[in-house]
Amino acid sequence: MPGQEFFEVELAEEKNALDTAQEEQASKDREEPEEFEQVCCLCRRPAGVAGKMTRVQGDFYICRDCMQRMFDTINTTGFPMDDRMDFGRMPNISMINLADLQGFAPCAPKIKKKKKEEKAEPEFDIRAIPAPHKIKARLDEYIIGQEHAKKVMSVAVYNHYKRVASDDRQDSEVEIEKSNMLMIGPTGSGKTYMVRTLARLLDAPLAITDATSLTEAGYIGDDIESVVSKLLAAAGNDVDKAEHGIIFIDEIDKIAKKRNANQRDVSGESVQQGMLKLLEGAEVEVPVGASSKNAMVPMVTVNTKNILFICGGAFPDLEEIIKERLNKASSMGFQAALKDQYDKEENLLMQVLVEDVRKYGMIPEFLGRLPILFSLEALTEDMLVRVLAEPRNAIVRQYQKLLAMDEVKLEFDAEALHAIAAKAKEKKAGARALRAILEEYMLDIMYEIPKDDNIGEVTITRAYIEGTGGPRITMRTAAAGGV
Ligand code: ADP
Repeated sequence: MPGQEFFEVELAEEKNALDTAQEEQASKDREEPEEFEQVCCLCRRPAGVAGKMTRVQGDFYICRDCMQRMFDTINTTGFPMDDRMDFGRMPNISMINLADLQGFAPCAPKIKKKKKEEKAEPEFDIRAIPAPHKIKARLDEYIIGQEHAKKVMSVAVYNHYKRVASDDRQDSEVEIEKSNMLMIGPTGSGKTYMVRTLARLLDAPLAITDATSLTEAGYIGDDIESVVSKLLAAAGNDVDKAEHGIIFIDEIDKIAKKRNANQRDVSGESVQQGMLKLLEGAEVEVPVGASSKNAMVPMVTVNTKNILFICGGAFPDLEEIIKERLNKASSMGFQAALKDQYDKEENLLMQVLVEDVRKYGMIPEFLGRLPILFSLEALTEDMLVRVLAEPRNAIVRQYQKLLAMDEVKLEFDAEALHAIAAKAKEKKAGARALRAILEEYMLDIMYEIPKDDNIGEVTITRAYIEGTGGPRITMRTAAAGGV
């Protein structure tokens, strides 16, 4: 093609000219370092910012970015000198790419695009929802004990998503009620952990809120609808996904009706009142990408009809109410029992009834919208030992993995685990205390062990936990020693 030859010659000349200009410039720079910084005559950036300059004429310089931009413009808009030939749009003809000529990367930084997250599907197809025994089996991998709670929860979740599926089909005559739940259990018994695990297994978005921060709309604090806005954020602003998500409201006992309150109860009973519609199913206007409503934020409508609400709380003193009821029932007739027979019972919470919770200060309408009521047991010392070592991501396993990276084997004597569990039990914070206690003992180990390459195995002993001895250290050469 004649045009192409002509262009190739032009390009070669241009390249030579550019090379010579740059060589001249480089040798000049070597000889006499310039007092003033060169400035690009197009973008006005100094050489310190824009990089090397090419002298165009006299004291005029042009930076490589601008030079490339000029070539690119010619490339894409056609060759301006000869409209008839239109070389710029001809195939196989392009203007020089400075990067090719001088072996440097183009100046504009390239930002690698984020990989698009793969969408998990199919979402709420009834066939895809695992049967309750399968849900429980998965929960078993993570949660120790709490057999009753795991069972109730698995069935409730299964029914909930069945209901969602039947609702989607819209051919049902019988309307299935929502299976919102109210879980009662002492601190650190695994309430939050269970909900988290469940949401992960179901791949459902989850929002966790503290009821203590909620107040009636218009008062200082988060208004009730903010929980839906949190869920929307957890669902990546996907309204459809959010409408099938889970909202966990912790510390629900803190919004119990205040006894002897003579002011307006903006964070107690009125919050319960405010939540009624939400629990049942309502269209809520929530801001997208912000926690508060204002004129600048776009709003979307989220229907809470298919959102699963799980409320949880420790309900301190609820045991007294349960005990009172049980005593009353057993103090009548021939089978009258001793008054203090329930005093030593550890898991009185397991015998909770709706009327106890109502007496505690939750209003009947609220409880009516949380039809599934169940309790978690307080973790015993043996259960705490199992929490330390058995779950998939048990704390002990996490430390073992960390030390394995230093090629050191970490072991715990059974006695040592019991000593840790006993200490945790004293703190009365359930499994929550375990990590803090273990962290305290592992600090020295994690600090000292990597110092010595010869250490092959560390065993945590009861004596080390009780402060009467050290851990057992085995050297790689299999010769035993002590710290
Ligand atoms: P709470 O009942 O106060 O909400 P959490 O669920 O926050 O307690 O529990 C705190 C931590 O204790 C969890 O992150 C989890 O690691 C551990 N944990 C609590 N209960 C159990 C359990 N039954 N099985 C395994 N780990 C548990």
